[in-house]
Amino acid sequence: MTKDEIKIFCPATIANISCGFDVLGLALGTVGDVMVIRRGNSPGIRITRITGQEIPMDADKNVAGVAGMAMLKELEYQGGFEVEIHKKIKAGSGIGSSAASASGVVWGINHLLGNPCSEEQLVRFAMEGEKLASGTPHADNVAPAIYGGITLVRSSDPLDVVRIHAPAELFASVVHPQIEIKTSDSRKILRTSISLADGIRQWGNLGALIAGLFREDYDLIGRSLEDHIVEPIRSILIPGFDEIKRAAIAAGALGCGISGSGPSIFALSKGRETAVKVSESMSRVLTGIDLEHDTYVSEINTQGIRIIS
Ligand code: ADP
Repeated sequence: MTKDEIKIFCPATIANISCGFDVLGLALGTVGDVMVIRRGNSPGIRITRITGQEIPMDADKNVAGVAGMAMLKELEYQGGFEVEIHKKIKAGSGIGSSAASASGVVWGINHLLGNPCSEEQLVRFAMEGEKLASGTPHADNVAPAIYGGITLVRSSDPLDVVRIHAPAELFASVVHPQIEIKTSDSRKILRTSISLADGIRQWGNLGALIAGLFREDYDLIGRSLEDHIVEPIRSILIPGFDEIKRAAIAAGALGCGISGSGPSIFALSKGRETAVKVSESMSRVLTGIDLEHDTYVSEINTQGIRIIS
């Protein structure tokens, strides 16, 4: 029997992961939005309730509405769906707030329709929502939300998503300082070309990071979590970044960098205990400069979006 309503957990995600700018992403397990998707009486997508954040109810202005409509259009589906969004991820946090809504709505509709679409198709629909939030249809947050675990977007057009092994002992610590940085703004400050020397360093690190993840070689993961291209520019927008990074490494983190376009900062560690210490050290720096912030510690969520009821 097909259900008429589904309640789902839509994970926050860390995109880029230092050397994987615009291609790597991972899903978190302890922070995410809750969405309810139900069959509606009128065609299209209708957002009926939003809690937790001030984001548009209008389906054309909400990434969930735009992603859902892209899906219904491609499927030539005549019916409609009602959507409730209960935000736990703050918009503009850099941990995939818009991606959680865009991927959740298409995953939920797919489930209610008996799973006619592949994960890759769902990523394509969700990317249409991301286009509304940041101006470009990027997949680095929606891919890990939908596939779970760690993903690499080898190409976004045509879409080619590669699943990357997530070592069981790998944990993420995240601090979210309460300042707003819009993805579109933090993209504008980036250079559009890089030197060959920077390119060589970056793809050396990215290749080694992927090998380190598959081999569960934590030392190699740590050596590879470097970004000499984007981080030096974007970190200027985040107060205390250098000190937070030093504190994370001193507390035992394998590496530390900007989550997505910021302002959230992530660190990866081996083991939950170290990840907790790392988050406390990062948090202390922000407290020291009087910057309000949220902190999260999470395993890598290999399931991605999951059904609550
Ligand atoms: P993040 O990386 O945290 O998703 P973005 O800057 O990419 O941050 O996206 C946040 C922007 O998208 C905000 O301007 C917000 O109003 C808009 N937005 C539209 N719909 C949603 C939604 N369902 N969830 C979160 N943000 C949304």
